[in-house]
Amino acid sequence: MAPVESQQALVTLCDISKSFDGKAVISHFNLTINHGEFITLLGPSGCGKTTILRLIAGLEEADSGTILLDNEDITHKPAEHRHVNTVFQSYALFPHMTVFDNVAFGLRMQNTPNAEINQRVNQALAMVQLDSFADRRPHQLSGGQQQRVAIARAVVNRPKVLLLDESLSALDYKLRRQMQNELKALQRKLGITFIFVTHDQEEALTMSDRIVVLRDGEIEQDGTPREIYEEPKNLFVARFIGEINVFDAEVVTPLDNQRARARVEGFLCDIQAPFPLSAGQKLHVLLRPEDLRVDEIGDGDSAAPAGLIGYVRERNYKGMTLESTVELENGKLITVSEFFNEDDPDFDHSINQKMSINWVESWEVVLPGD
Ligand code: ATP
Repeated sequence: MAPVESQQALVTLCDISKSFDGKAVISHFNLTINHGEFITLLGPSGCGKTTILRLIAGLEEADSGTILLDNEDITHKPAEHRHVNTVFQSYALFPHMTVFDNVAFGLRMQNTPNAEINQRVNQALAMVQLDSFADRRPHQLSGGQQQRVAIARAVVNRPKVLLLDESLSALDYKLRRQMQNELKALQRKLGITFIFVTHDQEEALTMSDRIVVLRDGEIEQDGTPREIYEEPKNLFVARFIGEINVFDAEVVTPLDNQRARARVEGFLCDIQAPFPLSAGQKLHVLLRPEDLRVDEIGDGDSAAPAGLIGYVRERNYKGMTLESTVELENGKLITVSEFFNEDDPDFDHSINQKMSINWVESWEVVLPGD
């Protein structure tokens, strides 16, 4: 897709409000989704993800505000006249129809000529690698295959936007991972804008060009997966996307360029913030478990250890990594994740082993404190 077109707005939600039974789900909500984007709405249960999808699909009507699709005001347009299709979690296939007829259904409703139906359905089935399954019925297919039929049915009439509501959540872990890759590849091939809803943060990170993190109907952060994971804007986003350690800190001496000498859980070190710092300022210093470096401290070690001091309280084998729960001297529990290193005899720390904990300067995320 040409870069110019990919930056063009395709769906615009403008000042949208929607309440159910007098309770606002979203209020004065604004979001622009661009041509060809794979965008994910991510947030806890009840934050309004599905409501936003249903508003775009025309399955719900906004109380106020405007929805544009390709510069056309579709706010009051019936669902069947929008160039939008939805793949639901349940797939909603017709059980008595063959795979072919399921995919052909929408085209037949539009009185599309038979020759064109044949050509388009076969093409859609080939795309999801189900051409040899055209005569089967849904119960003769695996979960992943049913999911692909639902996708073929949703793309066969070439919508401008495909909405996917928890579309992978019924699949087992392995199939889900496989479908994540397939869906992403398919989206790239088709160039159709995908708006995906999930509460699974790993899935969102894997699949999306852009993630919109929602809480109580409000956007907490809108950015690339990398920005969301590495530069969370607040504690909610930081904690919602993966595991993170939150340290309490206080500025001791401001240095230049928004750097400062700070006390982090009692340990003096230099930190870098995205805002100016002043003496005495309270902060949160955030570090992912994989960004922490740990070293064992032996009984005979006399040198003052560089870093926070803690004791290993739990070890969890995770295949590629070892995840340890470490209790700091002030009682705070933190999580440390280390890649296995066969050459390191100290690697498999024993319970209650004393450790020093450190990190590469500037890898920390600094947020204002309480
Ligand atoms: P989940 O991840 O659990 O699907 P969600 O983020 O998709 O959640 P929504 O389904 O959009 O959330 O629901 C947002 C809020 O609106 C919830 O409190 C829900 O109970 C309420 N809600 C949604 N649809 C209706 C409805 N038709 N009638 C009444 N309340 C509704």
